[in-house]
Amino acid sequence: VITFHNIEKNFGSLKVLKGISGEINRGEVVAVIGSSGCGKSTLLRCFNRLEKIDSGHLTVNGINLSHPQFNQKQLRQLRTQVGMVFQQFNLFPHLTVLENLILAPCKVLGKTRKESTQQAGFYLEKVGLFDKASAYPQQLSGGQKQRVAIARSLCMNPQIMLFDEPTSALDPELVGEVLQVMQELATEGMTMVVVTHEMQFAREVAHRVIFMDKGIVAEQGPASEVISNPRSDRLRTFLSRLN
Ligand code: ATP
Ligand code: MG
Repeated sequence: VITFHNIEKNFGSLKVLKGISGEINRGEVVAVIGSSGCGKSTLLRCFNRLEKIDSGHLTVNGINLSHPQFNQKQLRQLRTQVGMVFQQFNLFPHLTVLENLILAPCKVLGKTRKESTQQAGFYLEKVGLFDKASAYPQQLSGGQKQRVAIARSLCMNPQIMLFDEPTSALDPELVGEVLQVMQELATEGMTMVVVTHEMQFAREVAHRVIFMDKGIVAEQGPASEVISNPRSDRLRTFLSRLN
């Protein structure tokens, strides 16, 4: 679904991605781990074109993001096919939960209000927040806000979901409810790329782990293997610091 080859991304003179290659297959859950500043968010943001790569080859769901003539139509296509959930939930504070969920389906996909509302109900139910449809974001806990953010993404019927540290801003006791929603999504076969520091989640839910170090992929493989049997000193050090 996503293939990337030798991608590079610089911010001015700062080289952030230094020739990263790999692939994300359909239905696969891939955890991206690594120290702060190693380029995890940047890589994820390249996948939905929040950042433009400087060189290399990147295809997402058949859309070639490295083509010089990549256009607005393709960008719209990409944005509907790829959902993204951030550490900060980015809900619209002046809209109710339901309005947050139906905004893009109505505006971008041109669905009717009725159709969008029905679908929103389905996903709210799925994340366990059907009864919060008319609440405003400020009336929700962090965990609830993040579950709404996930439901909102799902309302666009994405093929791929990108998660950038979705539980990092949450109080510890709220982390579990969000991970559970993600786990269910994974079980249903959603293709997911998850930047996370939750090693238990990575080990139990991810099929594969990519360990990034200073802009390169330093290690990758089956989750249990990479996390339980790190080959490099860098990964060993990284993992030991988390505990
Ligand atoms: P963290 O775990 O702290 O979220 P990360 O692995 O996600 O880190 P990135 O956010 O991808 O790291 O950032 C990688 C590097 O690129 C950092 O040095 C960061 O300061 C820099 N960087 C990221 N975005 C920009 C930007 N828009 N302009 C300039 N530099 C940036
Ligand atoms: Mg980051």
